[in-house]
Amino acid sequence: MARRKDPFTCPKCGTRVKEPVKTWTLVSPMPDKYGRITVTAMGSFTCPNCGYSWRGVVKKLKTGGEEQAEEPVEKRPGQVIEIDLSELDDID
Ligand SMILES: [Zn+2]
Repeated sequence: MARRKDPFTCPKCGTRVKEPVKTWTLVSPMPDKYGRITVTAMGSFTCPNCGYSWRGVVKKLKTGGEEQAEEPVEKRPGQVIEIDLSELDDID
């Protein structure tokens, strides 16, 4: 059993299952170094051929943080808004 795991394929007889009977998600309690949370979609499968039931990871995805950027984006300079407080004091 050294083959790559395919959650949609029956581990007993090799029948390809179209979709899981039931799915649910597991959310990682700890964000990664980019502040993203890993959400794992699990599936419960039942083989229509031999009746074997198993569970597998349907897919994993990461949410939050920067989806595209792998490196942190530098903050741009020149966005500091200065307010002259002395002007506010003159308002009656
Ligand atoms: Zn089967």
